Amino acid sequence: MPITFYDTYSRQLEEFKPIEPPKVKLYTCGPTVYSFAHIGNFRAYVFEDLLQRHLEARGFEVERVMNLTDVDDKTIRGSREAGISLPEFTAKFKKAFFEDIETLRIKRANHFPAATEPENLAKMIEMIDQLMQEDIAYQAEDRSVYFRIMRYPDYGKLAHLDLAELRPSGRIRSDEYEKENIGDFALWKAWDEKDGLVGWNAPWGRGRPGWHIECSAMATRLLGPEIDIHCGGVDNIFPHHEAEIAQSECVNHKKFVRYWLHNAHLLVEGQKMSKSLGNFFTLRDLLDKGFTGRELRYALIGSNYRQPLNFTFDGLNAARHSLLRIDEWLRRLRDIAGNAEPDPGFAAAKSDSFFNALDEDLNISAALAEVFDQIRSTNRAIDSAELTASQAAALLDWWDRINQVLQLQEEAEPIPPNVTRLLQRRAAARADKNWSEGDSLRTQIEELGWLVKDTKDGQKLTKRSWQS
Ligand code: AMP
Ligand code: ZN
Repeated sequence: MPITFYDTYSRQLEEFKPIEPPKVKLYTCGPTVYSFAHIGNFRAYVFEDLLQRHLEARGFEVERVMNLTDVDDKTIRGSREAGISLPEFTAKFKKAFFEDIETLRIKRANHFPAATEPENLAKMIEMIDQLMQEDIAYQAEDRSVYFRIMRYPDYGKLAHLDLAELRPSGRIRSDEYEKENIGDFALWKAWDEKDGLVGWNAPWGRGRPGWHIECSAMATRLLGPEIDIHCGGVDNIFPHHEAEIAQSECVNHKKFVRYWLHNAHLLVEGQKMSKSLGNFFTLRDLLDKGFTGRELRYALIGSNYRQPLNFTFDGLNAARHSLLRIDEWLRRLRDIAGNAEPDPGFAAAKSDSFFNALDEDLNISAALAEVFDQIRSTNRAIDSAELTASQAAALLDWWDRINQVLQLQEEAEPIPPNVTRLLQRRAAARADKNWSEGDSLRTQIEELGWLVKDTKDGQKLTKRSWQS
């Protein structure tokens, strides 16, 4: 069965055929490290993680780049306000970002290039230089360097805009009169005093790179001139990704990207969650409220990436509830499976429908429906004592394959020391045949949220489930 993705450029579902299978070159626009990323940003990164893990489950070898924007107006302003250097300021948020992606179980990219690293700056300067030589870029009166969009006739095709329509409007700032065309975008921003100590020397003067050239340079340097998939949120389509195409193709003379995948926004009361609207939550805000990374991951991953997703606490609680159902199901399966060998002929556990659903433009709703159908029917079979140990073991293997993609399994919780002490006392009481003491200790352990089972191998402890 082919894998299909909706490509923003062609506006249709396309069969996925990477340039050099099984390799897949994936470029994903990363965070600007001037504050903690908000959970809207994480919707983008979780979607990209699902994409990567599904491709890997299908046998592809993904090489992924995620850039870190560590110089721009916001980072410079932030460092000035904090009274520290730009690298010190951004280091704090880079570290926080890596902690957050780990909490959300997002697989680390192979490369996290930052804009201010010398090799990246050198590549940006080299590309801008080439554009200047070919007269595609020009230096304006303000000493900044701009890309002349008229020199790239396909400019606007990704966003389905007509070049002639790129006149001053709400979409494009119209306060930069030095530019030849209002749609021309900055490749290099000339230094001004607000930049303080931040700046690098280039053939056309001191300054810093524009945001768009960053991604073109890092993608070309690390993945080459042609990449398979480029992702980002829909807000990145214009002008950012449009500019990336123009820059990369004018320099490299190759089709820059085969498939453009864009996630819809995380909304709050119908509006995009964003820093500027002030309607945002960070992951840390949610952890402080007692939610876990796993719960937020579920809430973000659980609806199809091209559908806008409304953020609510009801939604997070529903995610928590769904996860508890999975946890409880796995506990039951483990109890039944014991040490049995998986039954290789058990059809339910051989089903590929979870992966087949994801093959269709990452249809996660359909994929999760397969999981919950399985949970429902297995629970019924368990209730009527019809599920055998080897069938349960086969289902656990099935889930393992799925969890490689979802990354939603509960982490085994360490047993707290007070529970361990009670368990030891209970073992001793039972060895003395003091059954009433044993029962009372069992109740105490239950009150601490754990269940004890007496098996032929001794006491077995599991976390209490939501049902019990
Ligand atoms: P930024 O730091 O604003 O460049 O955003 C980083 C990534 O998060 C980009 O891919 C954005 O498109 C994406 N993004 C920003 N806000 C949202 C949102 N509310 N919902 C989904 N994705 C978002
Ligand atoms: Zn980018």
